[in-house]
Amino acid sequence: MHNKGKIYVIGLGPGNREHMSKRALDAIIDSEVVIGYKTYIHLVEDLLEGKEVIDSGMRKEVERCNLTIDQALEGKKVCIISSGDAGVYGMAGIMLEVKYERNVDIEIELIPGITAASAAASVLGAPMMHDFSVISLSDLLTDWELIKRRIECASMGDFIIALYNPRSKGRVHQIEHAREIMMKHKDKNTPVGIVRNAKRDGEEVIVTNLQDMLKHPIDMLTVVIIGNAKTYVKDGKMITPRGYKL
Ligand code: SAH
Repeated sequence: MHNKGKIYVIGLGPGNREHMSKRALDAIIDSEVVIGYKTYIHLVEDLLEGKEVIDSGMRKEVERCNLTIDQALEGKKVCIISSGDAGVYGMAGIMLEVKYERNVDIEIELIPGITAASAAASVLGAPMMHDFSVISLSDLLTDWELIKRRIECASMGDFIIALYNPRSKGRVHQIEHAREIMMKHKDKNTPVGIVRNAKRDGEEVIVTNLQDMLKHPIDMLTVVIIGNAKTYVKDGKMITPRGYKL
């Protein structure tokens, strides 16, 4: 019988090995080919001996997925890796889209990982104990008008907000506009947690508030979590009550 190969789409978690799932680890070990952006390849380098490794630059996501399918069609087991969860601004959706676009019959297993918001929340305390929304400030693939509308709606709804891709070297004003929109609906003293490199080497944590959040460094290795109206800070920890009577 023709061996069709298999594709694993893997979320590595935030970075350190102990936060990667066992299934993700097993899938990498099982794979003959490992494909991903070089920063992520680097995180699993010790597992790659004897495997074919294909690293590719940022912004080549579709190419990477096509390459993954080509390799699997040769009968190989191939894994394509994202950081965090591959289904959260990662490779999972693109992989499925490309598969159906090409109309190929290949098994794809999607393996979840700990996303940056969960990793950052655990570092901060328990800020996401109630309804939250996750918003990426990157307007490369999404209209800025739509992003602003989502920030506005999430703020009006008193959602806790986790901001991904908050500020890059070339994209510095979005976080300022985001803060202005949130200030219209959320109190200026609302707790804000800024976590850089959550659960991996170089972890940095700042707990501040909406008024002062821009006084602190924020970059692309950072997640920013803005609380809801009930979020408070105790002993340096952000806590959003679930509503239990104590
Ligand atoms: N698939 C990833 C997200 C990719 S988008 C996930 O599920 O986590 C890239 C953004 O994720 C970064 O700009 C940053 O905002 C955030 N991020 C990823 N890993 C992080 C970490 N360990 N600490 C803080 N932020 C992180």
